Amino acid sequence: MIVRMSTLFLRTLREDPVDAEVPSHKLLVRAGYIRRAAPGIYSWLPMGWRVLRKVEQIVREEMDAIGAQELHFPALLPREPYDASGRWTDYGDSIFTLTDRKGGEYLLGPTHEEMFTLVVKDLYSSYKDLPVSLYQIQTKYRDEPRPRAGILRGREFVMKDSYSFDVSDEAFLRSYEAHRGAYVKIFDRLGLDYVIVAAMSGAMGGSASEEFLAKADNGEDTYVRCTNCDYAANVEAVKVSVPDPIPYDEAPAAHAEDTPDTPTIDTLVDHLNAHFARDDRPWTAADTLKNVLVMVVHGDGTREPLAVGIPGDREIDMKRLGAQVEPAEVAAFDEAEFARHPDLVKGYIGPGALGEKGSSRIRYLLDPRVVTGTRWVTGANQPGRHVIDLVAGRDFTADGTIEAAEVCEGDACPRCGHPLESARGIEMGHIFQLGRTYAEALDLKVLDENGKLVVVTMGSYGVGVSRAVAAIVEGSHDAAGIIWPREVAPADVHIVATGKDAAIFETADRLASELSAAGVEVLYDDRRRVSPGVKFADAELIGVPTIVVVGRGLADGVVEVRDRATGERADVAVEDAVAQLTGVVRGG
Ligand code: ATP
Ligand code: MG
Repeated sequence: MIVRMSTLFLRTLREDPVDAEVPSHKLLVRAGYIRRAAPGIYSWLPMGWRVLRKVEQIVREEMDAIGAQELHFPALLPREPYDASGRWTDYGDSIFTLTDRKGGEYLLGPTHEEMFTLVVKDLYSSYKDLPVSLYQIQTKYRDEPRPRAGILRGREFVMKDSYSFDVSDEAFLRSYEAHRGAYVKIFDRLGLDYVIVAAMSGAMGGSASEEFLAKADNGEDTYVRCTNCDYAANVEAVKVSVPDPIPYDEAPAAHAEDTPDTPTIDTLVDHLNAHFARDDRPWTAADTLKNVLVMVVHGDGTREPLAVGIPGDREIDMKRLGAQVEPAEVAAFDEAEFARHPDLVKGYIGPGALGEKGSSRIRYLLDPRVVTGTRWVTGANQPGRHVIDLVAGRDFTADGTIEAAEVCEGDACPRCGHPLESARGIEMGHIFQLGRTYAEALDLKVLDENGKLVVVTMGSYGVGVSRAVAAIVEGSHDAAGIIWPREVAPADVHIVATGKDAAIFETADRLASELSAAGVEVLYDDRRRVSPGVKFADAELIGVPTIVVVGRGLADGVVEVRDRATGERADVAVEDAVAQLTGVVRGG
């Protein structure tokens, strides 16, 4: 294959697009791989399309290798199955819905659990039919609240989704392990630097759940890793170790005190140290219990207030909180809400006003660290007053616990107690146990060995295929442009012909033909009236891993071979070039 730049539909740009913040977005647009069509919606230009198809092909090969079978569902889907699973409403504003001319309701598939479940139910009925794993590589649609960073978070994007169907949990584990192995191979071949972390299983139940995160400082996901053991988890999935209850027989009675002008934790701690000094040590933010109010917005639009009590030295992590209430979303508890709850004294809200038994009846959930016997300073539900020595379990209780407080660097590992370290990543894939939720909702049962009907157990496995294109660039670029890993590069070799001599172009033409005949994919810069500087800049921007310059050196019988990643340059005799380059390409 030879792609000639003289005719290639490509226009590289020297300026970053104004709306681009992250390197992959800037570079993919500048190098002519993608173009924005609408917010979060991109067109793939010829070079980008080549890369996307290569990523797809890697995914396809590794899925096929574990015996998963490819099929293809429509993107335009009927409403009924999504009603049966409850997701038509659960997804809320995140799905694109539409109505046909007869009034029939449809959606653009955000993910296809329902369709996979139904097709297996249609055609299979016995344990002898299982296990089966099916997958597709499909365009998905989600009306993301914050489309971001080009194709990293799009509203239209390409996903590989697969589902395994098994009769038992033991059999499911084999399907899960097979997928996990395939994912390791996929992300290795994509050249991503990634970690596998424990993940939330989400609203769908099940227990096994892992994410593959590409390490990236500007990734949206934060994960923690133990500095001692092999624990690694998305912060959303971290369950803090719950301390043992503390005896409180000796604890003094709670007492409300005037603490004027202390609406923030810092002002409160200063006031406590100035007026209620402790003998043993100064008060710190960790002694205070902060009660944060939010609104939980359900898919059908209903709104429910929620109060979360956390130690005052921590903030609420909105992603952790969001993961706990999924598929509902979290919104601000704004002034209008406060107006609806005149009993809540802003800045001085305490447990007495909260919970099923509290005056406001607002559901109240506590950080798991707030165990029985712990003593707190918290709002007294009166302006300018706080209560001191309020003992959990003695003076107040809540409606339950919630994992919503931020996880901090240095926190104890839930497994071994050593300090955690944190880093950021981009979610590239998610494998998890779906369990029987969908099979039950859509009545997918098979006859087992004893002739008894059993509900099928499922696994769900996703790879962000279009996101991978961006994530690869995030992990592999420099100031000049993209540096594609060989397996996904739009071409193997980029030949740059520079100069005016006919001999140069003749040699470059011949080299391109011979390489192509040897099975090497060639991008050939055969443009005549373009300066060498522009050609080199384009080659570095486009990012093909091997650049071959046919130019001045030809007088001495050599071409220059440049390694895009290392910058190394070497002269190679023209007659050896094909053999040498073929070796480089095949050797990886
Ligand atoms: P995220 O937490 O990033 O929103 P998700 O948990 O909603 O992702 P899944 O439903 O598990 O994602 O989808 C499987 C994979 O599809 C993800 O691991 C991710 O790589 C990719 N993906 C999800 N949403 C998008 C998007 N808006 N744009 C591009 N890729 C996406
Ligand atoms: Mg996920």
